[in-house]
Amino acid sequence: MDRHRILDWLKEEDGGRLEELWRQADGVRKEKVGDAVHLRGLVEISNYCSRLCWYCGIRAENQKIERYRMTKDEIMECVRQAVEFGYGTVVLQSGEDWGITAQWIEDVVRTIKEKTPLAVTLSLGERDEEELKAWRAAGADRYLLRFETSNRALYEKIHPHLAGKVSDRFAILRKLKNLGYEVGSGVMIGIPGQRYEDLADDIEMFEKLDLDMIGVGPFIAHPDTPLGREKPVEGQVPNTELMTYKVVALTRIACPQANIPSTTALATLNLAEGRELGLCRGANVVMPNLTPVKYRSKYEIYPAKACIRETAKECHNCMKRRIISIGRTVGTGLGGRKHF
Ligand code: SAH
Repeated sequence: MDRHRILDWLKEEDGGRLEELWRQADGVRKEKVGDAVHLRGLVEISNYCSRLCWYCGIRAENQKIERYRMTKDEIMECVRQAVEFGYGTVVLQSGEDWGITAQWIEDVVRTIKEKTPLAVTLSLGERDEEELKAWRAAGADRYLLRFETSNRALYEKIHPHLAGKVSDRFAILRKLKNLGYEVGSGVMIGIPGQRYEDLADDIEMFEKLDLDMIGVGPFIAHPDTPLGREKPVEGQVPNTELMTYKVVALTRIACPQANIPSTTALATLNLAEGRELGLCRGANVVMPNLTPVKYRSKYEIYPAKACIRETAKECHNCMKRRIISIGRTVGTGLGGRKHF
């Protein structure tokens, strides 16, 4: 997609003209990935984290949260629910928790693949190539790792180096692709200091990386983080609901076949209809939360996260109702990217 057009749309404020962008994105969505909305059951398996990311509430230095790590049995109970609810995929997400060993994840993945027909997505942060390889061999299908922003200076600022460890998420995304994973990435919208040009670069980068899955959501300030206390810069990208829809729509047009979720961060800004509007403006995936209620509030990457008190069953029924209310269907099968 032409860069000037991307920038013009990102800056467009006229509601009438934006209707044209929504219409285009929804048309591409319908033609390329159809009406099915795929459900991915999300299990937040640990909130331990060794990283210091400036935006994230579960960063290592936050001593206000109680840490937890789920047992294999607890995870398998969530997986059982995913099967019962008819989901095609289970997503295991955590902080960068080095208390989680490669062998343990390998065992969990292998058990899920043996006992269920589910696709397994991992989102465990920046792990070593050997580990990624072992998990892929155990049967993991997909991996999610957002690059957060393509502005290198901004990226470096909000991801302090750990001793001896340079963070290069693009390199990891390439490795994941070579290992045969379906690869997902994405960015936050409205990070303090993020410019419109940066966001246009992000969308061009999605295209260049030929991603299978692309998740974008608004940056939500968390008071117990360095970035949560920073003021927005004059003229920067706002972290609003509207800006998120623009990025979802432009992403759909730039990457027609990608799986694009209507994210929880978006639902957090508009509980009443954020999910639906995302789905009507380019998205085709939702990620109902399967994390046991007793752990959910502890996985607070940002405050007031949507769906924090609902049980898995309630989350499931709510998502289904929302999908049907906008005339779409609940996806069946694994819901991988079309050419896979
Ligand atoms: N440890 C894993 C999972 C992180 S949580 C990893 O690093 O990949 C998943 C995503 O939540 C992050 O990639 C980030 O884009 C998003 N996130 C974290 N903090 C946020 C905040 N304050 N506002 C909005 N999104 C946030």
